[in-house]
Amino acid sequence: MATSQMAIEEAAEFTLAEQYKTNRSGAGRWIISHFKRYWYVGIVILIGAFGNAALASVVPIQVGQAFDAILQNPPKVDLLAGFAWTIIISQLIRGVLQFGRNFGAEILGQLLERNIRHELYVSLLGKSMTFHNLQPVGDTMARATNDVREINFMFNPGFNLVIGSANFLIMPLIVAPRYHPSLVLVPILFIIGYILALWQYLGELDPITTKVRSSFGELNTRLSEALDGIETVKGMAQEENEVGLFEKNARRFRNAFVWQGDVEARFLPLLLLGLAQGGALLHSLILFRQGLLTTGDVIAFFGIISLFGFPTFVSLFAYSQVSLGNASARRILELINRETELDQNVAGSEAEMKGAIEFRDVTFNYGDTDPVLKNVSFKVEPGQTVAIVGQTGAGKTSLAKLVNRTYDVDSGQVLVDGIDVRDWQLEPLRRGISIIEQDIFLFSRSIADNISFGCQNDSQADIEAAAKAAQAHEFILDFKDGYDTVIGERGVTLSGGQRQRLALARAFLTDPTILVLDDSTSAIDSATEDKIQRAIYNAAKGRTTLIITHRLSQIRWADLIVVMRKGEVAAVGTHEDLLRTSEAYRRIFTE
Ligand code: ATP
Ligand code: MG
Repeated sequence: MATSQMAIEEAAEFTLAEQYKTNRSGAGRWIISHFKRYWYVGIVILIGAFGNAALASVVPIQVGQAFDAILQNPPKVDLLAGFAWTIIISQLIRGVLQFGRNFGAEILGQLLERNIRHELYVSLLGKSMTFHNLQPVGDTMARATNDVREINFMFNPGFNLVIGSANFLIMPLIVAPRYHPSLVLVPILFIIGYILALWQYLGELDPITTKVRSSFGELNTRLSEALDGIETVKGMAQEENEVGLFEKNARRFRNAFVWQGDVEARFLPLLLLGLAQGGALLHSLILFRQGLLTTGDVIAFFGIISLFGFPTFVSLFAYSQVSLGNASARRILELINRETELDQNVAGSEAEMKGAIEFRDVTFNYGDTDPVLKNVSFKVEPGQTVAIVGQTGAGKTSLAKLVNRTYDVDSGQVLVDGIDVRDWQLEPLRRGISIIEQDIFLFSRSIADNISFGCQNDSQADIEAAAKAAQAHEFILDFKDGYDTVIGERGVTLSGGQRQRLALARAFLTDPTILVLDDSTSAIDSATEDKIQRAIYNAAKGRTTLIITHRLSQIRWADLIVVMRKGEVAAVGTHEDLLRTSEAYRRIFTE
């Protein structure tokens, strides 16, 4: 990226309206750029924090004066009520200011959590498939939920207490000289010691909080994989093994936390506070002996020094919260910034799609492995039905995924209507192309919602018409709730053939120019087979259709057949041609 500024609503593959910029060049800068939108809340927090600290020092000042008043001869008892009222009123105001600080920090934390979650979500949806193939879902989930939450905590209680306590830190510096100028000595020494100790503490904490966050990600990865693959885990009787692996990760997470606790326990300012109180008492008593301070001054000064107690005690917790938040920010940003190879071509074509497809000497692989497709070339006219056949692993699914840029070719070109797919805008390209995957994914929403997934505004009548065309209407009505049946709830799951027909219904609604059907559901009874057949036949009418299939019935009525073999095109032609000329083709039917 040329500049580190990037619009939050802008992802590689699509663009949303309503934009604002965040600075993604570093975790700190990124958080600040999020905070900047709400700078005024920051001001409320600052005013609240300063007022709170200033009014906290009113208490020891008034107590000191009260002592001086009663130690006079005769004691000036009539003054005491005034001191008491000053304390009461000042503390009431302090309560309001404290509320402003706390409430401001809470609002800020929540706003930032929401915005960051949104930014991350937009970014994740815009990432290429290569990214998603390599990034474990569990880890992404950990970042999208807990790490985002940590940033909330970083503001409240984290920064809230940091700013609150920093103001308590400077109060003794401001107030002490009113008793004697030399009394700033102990506060200055304490603050220097405090800052040095904090510096050392944060340095030591940084790798630990990073470890805490990353071990949580690993823990989650393992959990989500075990749950995702629960059928395999059970089928292979690997439960104990998986539990063992999970425990190992859980232990690692725990150890990271214990390590953090260890560092926290050795936090130096606790010791410094004791020294400061002793030193302050000594210093003020010396001045008292020289007649430079009154008894009330000594008491007040000691009370003022006790204000250091707040920064000392909360810093332990507040700074580890900030440190955790920082580690989380780095993890989220790392995910957002990770390269996505596939880039939206904003200036690309958005023409009406006619449906011609051409593969021109295409070579492709998923990583650094041997090419999955080698020198693939063939041409499809608009409206044709093309069957792609070949043994398992021949590269049929991979080939289909290049058409809508789920992946990009390594060399060669895939052209739609004579335009390289990389020179199309993604949105119109993908709107024009529907791919019905080999393993159809259904969302845990109602059947109607699943059918209308590609175009959310369709009416119930449209949905039913599509379901009828896809031969799905009957089995949908067999469910008690019909179209409102929620998939995945109360044991509603669908068979392969049913899923396929739902996906076909989806395609009828989106009405794509190009339909790709990865149909490898092999073992179905003949009645269902017949239904699917009819559904596919309906769907193929009036559009370019690529069917990946093993079924002879489907292959027969295709205008063109592409025979794949080990990533290469072994033959192209009609059924009759190929039976005569292609050995590879004949072999498919004799297996
Ligand atoms: P089938 O008939 O079994 O569906 P296919 O012809 O569709 O097979 P592909 O899924 O295209 O085969 O796979 C072709 C090759 O690419 C295989 O060797 C497979 O191991 C590899 N492959 C497929 N998907 C990926 C992936 N996401 N990452 C890495 N390699 C992959
Ligand atoms: Mg396949």
